Amino acid sequence: MTAQLTDKYGRNIEYLRLSVTDRCDLRCNYCMPEGFKDFGEPEDWLTFDEIERIIRVFGELGTRRIRITGGEPLVRKNLPELAARLSLLPGIEDLSLSSNATRMQKQAEPLKKAGISRINISLDTLRADRFKQITGGGKLEKVINGLLAAKEAGFHPVKINMVVMRGVNDDEVEDMVQFCIDHDFTLRFIETMPMGNTGREASLQYIPLSEIHDRLAKKYNLVKANMNGGGPARYVRVEGTELRIGYITPMSQHFCDTCNRVRLSVDGTLYLCLGQDDSYPLRELMRAGITDDELKQHIQNAIDIKPEKHEFSDNPQKLVRFMSMTGG
Ligand code: SAM
Ligand code: SF4
Repeated sequence: MTAQLTDKYGRNIEYLRLSVTDRCDLRCNYCMPEGFKDFGEPEDWLTFDEIERIIRVFGELGTRRIRITGGEPLVRKNLPELAARLSLLPGIEDLSLSSNATRMQKQAEPLKKAGISRINISLDTLRADRFKQITGGGKLEKVINGLLAAKEAGFHPVKINMVVMRGVNDDEVEDMVQFCIDHDFTLRFIETMPMGNTGREASLQYIPLSEIHDRLAKKYNLVKANMNGGGPARYVRVEGTELRIGYITPMSQHFCDTCNRVRLSVDGTLYLCLGQDDSYPLRELMRAGITDDELKQHIQNAIDIKPEKHEFSDNPQKLVRFMSMTGG
């Protein structure tokens, strides 16, 4: 029987978010500061061999789901090669990807072939000028082409993640619903989190998603729905359509008591909570030649320090790291 990773609060950890780079070709203003360049050095990045080893060991410890993220994961060279290697590992049942889709048009098919099963794409606006403003100069057209390419390559459902911010893009919620109905995408709304000074500034535009739900409920008949994914989103379906809408509410209704995940950054640091600094460095241990059994013990030691919950609401000043370091 496969070993299980359980933390001191009895939560079973079976989901790993794997950041393959801290770099990104966009600068979403709630995520990374404008002009930010203070990235990790390539010699500190885990190599594909190191990543494969850690994921294999996590698989042996009962981890079933891996989500590749970043920074922007498609910025990392030869990502489909890594995905293909990870998808073959025993125990890994679900390999998914979060991306901004700027480079998806060319990569969708190779990623599908490599064994990526599900894709989430960030898109906060359907207006080119606004997209440019929110992302620090990005081109909306590339993302739309990337979304369509993902659908064409056979990813279903393609999920769109929209961070809803008052006075920035909240007037587009209904447009986004219609866009997702038209294209058969799934739509998820996310509350802004105070990660780093970028996230804290954006949090000034925070909207509790119950407000968005109430607004949509006036226009559409929303019924409860289920959705695969292992994540914290709560879903409704727009009656008369196939559209599912998910609400991710880390601020207004946190889901820490059912948290099943940890995050590995590109430099091999295991972060135990999105909203806390608790972490455990694995890279140097691996480079010093520890055995797989020793690596397993270190991973369990890390899980033992997983905090009970984030403090985004009680202590919003706490986190200095940006979301792009650990991939959301
Ligand atoms: N670059 C990829 C992307 O944008 O999908 C993957 C990494 S990105 C950090 C993962 C997710 O985090 C995105 O959906 C993004 O919108 C979200 N995110 C970043 N900063 C955030 C913040 N301060 N509050 C809420 N969500 C945030
Ligand atoms: Fe890049 Fe994703 Fe952060 Fe936007 S949210 S800056 S696309 S890492």
